[in-house]
Amino acid sequence: MGPGPSDISPEVLASLSRPVIGHLDPLFVGMMDEVKALLQYAFQTKNEFTIALSAPGSAGMEACFVNLVEAGDKVIVCRNGVFGDRMIQNVTRIGAEAIVVDSPWGRAVETAKVEQALIANPDAKFVAFVHAETSTGAVSDAKALCALAQEHNCLSIVDAVTSLGGIELRVDDWGIDAIYSGSQKCLSCVPGLSPISFSEKAVNVIKERKTQIQSWFLDQSLVMSYWSGKGKRSYHHTAPVNSLYGLHESLVQLQNEGIENRWARHQTQHETLAKGLKKMGIEFIVPEDERLPQLNAIYIPEGADDVKVRNYLLNHYNLEIGAGLGDFAGKAWRIGIMGYAARSENVALCLTALEDALN
Ligand code: PLP
Repeated sequence: MGPGPSDISPEVLASLSRPVIGHLDPLFVGMMDEVKALLQYAFQTKNEFTIALSAPGSAGMEACFVNLVEAGDKVIVCRNGVFGDRMIQNVTRIGAEAIVVDSPWGRAVETAKVEQALIANPDAKFVAFVHAETSTGAVSDAKALCALAQEHNCLSIVDAVTSLGGIELRVDDWGIDAIYSGSQKCLSCVPGLSPISFSEKAVNVIKERKTQIQSWFLDQSLVMSYWSGKGKRSYHHTAPVNSLYGLHESLVQLQNEGIENRWARHQTQHETLAKGLKKMGIEFIVPEDERLPQLNAIYIPEGADDVKVRNYLLNHYNLEIGAGLGDFAGKAWRIGIMGYAARSENVALCLTALEDALN
């Protein structure tokens, strides 16, 4: 019950042990087509360009920036935690200009500030933000931020590493242009894959670039020929065959449950956890209406020893909770209830174990 990787189901675990077959084998190619369709469902999009990168969420982030942004471009980057900061580093390494909009850690991105930045920078081309800040447990209003980006002729770049499969996320309805996620959070698959999706507008920006994409591996125009559904697949890199079996299985489970039921399950489990924590006098970092259900960031109670408590939970209950990150290191714990881990028995165990550890 940390901030990810999350627990994975027995079915996903079993799928990983299927025989390795060639990544151009017709059976495997057929499964990749299914993965693509299942990802379109998870993202709620019809985007043709929807695939899983053979690399972790950070590579998904980098793929969005290096494919879309060119040196000299202006990018509005929202920072309210660790991962917004990582976006800034991506932008500056390209030689583009990051217009940083800071919001307090533990709070949602302030849309009014983003609007001010857009007005002050009419030449900005992109708005980038983290939907679900794993470092603080805050959710930002992705729908409003993407609408603002559109109003000001900007493309949106959205980090959905912790949000995909955990909270409401509608790529097409909200007009998201480029989005990336990770396999290891609310999808409950093994770490190391990054689902991404680009709108037609984003694909056109890539096609019309003036400069060559500096990363060969992340150049999506090359990757696409491998994922293309037109039967003409050619070798790009050796796909992580077994991890993709796992992703396929986890996405089938998501589809069988229904995406809205999955979102509701995270919310229900979060409410039970929050009630129990309140009874113990433990406080959340994030105000109630900006809280992520799948990532519960709480203040370490006065007098409790951060490392001792976490070790006690691990050694006595086989239970992992996350330490604070960045500004919250040593001040907070992060309790994840992501994907397969978002179950009543886990929430009950966590509350019992925490109460024991603190007494
Ligand atoms: N963005 C967010 C919001 C994350 O939580 C993480 C990882 O926890 C990442 C990006 C980076 O993903 P990865 O660790 O898979 O590279």
